[in-house]
Amino acid sequence: LPSSTRKVWQWEDAKRAFPKRRANSHKGSHGKGLIVGGAANMPGSIAMSARATLRSGAGLLTVAAPGSAIQNVAPYVQEATFLPLQEDSGVVNGQIDTDVSNYDGVALGMGMGRRLKSHKLVEDLVCKVESPLLIDADGLYQLKDILHLVKERTNPTVLTPHPGEFAHLVDQSISTIVNAPFYYSRKFSETYGVYTVLKGPVTIITAPDGRQYVDLTGNAGLAKGGSGDVLSGILLAMMLQSNSIMDALNIGCMVHGLTAEMLTESEHSMVDLLATDLIEGLSQTFRTFS
Ligand code: AMP
Ligand code: MG
Repeated sequence: LPSSTRKVWQWEDAKRAFPKRRANSHKGSHGKGLIVGGAANMPGSIAMSARATLRSGAGLLTVAAPGSAIQNVAPYVQEATFLPLQEDSGVVNGQIDTDVSNYDGVALGMGMGRRLKSHKLVEDLVCKVESPLLIDADGLYQLKDILHLVKERTNPTVLTPHPGEFAHLVDQSISTIVNAPFYYSRKFSETYGVYTVLKGPVTIITAPDGRQYVDLTGNAGLAKGGSGDVLSGILLAMMLQSNSIMDALNIGCMVHGLTAEMLTESEHSMVDLLATDLIEGLSQTFRTFS
């Protein structure tokens, strides 16, 4: 791989590409997002994701989840609207019966669980969503046998696996992935025409054409449940507001990592930092970009 197609994303890149908020903008100018996922016994993931989307500048947000999860999510995201999904014992069951073409971007999978009955929803959205679609967490788990449908999508698809999720998707061991992360993420992105955000202490962001960026921000304070949910929420918001998916992903990963660094240099430590602290810390990071 020629080194020119692999770059470290710098703060100056983020500053230059950061979406502007014009004085005369309105909520429609900043995108209408949809987050789909959640389960009755895991309301936290989708709540954190949704709150991170709202804290990252999205104009409007709808959260689609089982009704039994919504009652526990809603108090944390008062600015969002809600769409109850068909459910069976607290878990998504079946397709979505709303017009998904109304949204400028969709994020799917956080806290959804890995039950077979949720598979139909993932397949449905992969086929129907005409805006950029981000798939994370349990949504990735359901993707393995429908990658051919992902490949057929004509609009951008973003997958945000950690090495365990990626290993499952590409049928390799985690150590194989960790030993050759650039190779496997590039091969995967090119094969299926997707943007791949392979997360970890170093995050590799790969475009469908094989271009790769490396994000070096963040620290071990992020090595906790919930960090990835916050990231998916930030990424959705950036995708809603940027014309370039690659810029949006790079900015989002950097904002997430820098917020962790800033917080562990001020009021928190890597030991106590929580994913919810990240969401509230975003304001300080965003101030440095405007
Ligand atoms: P997830 O595994 O889905 O919760 O995602 C974890 C998030 O935290 C990703 O954005 C990772 O890049 C980040 N992260 C986890 N551990 C570290 C670490 N040791 N250093 C930097 N970032 C990390
Ligand atoms: Mg995760």
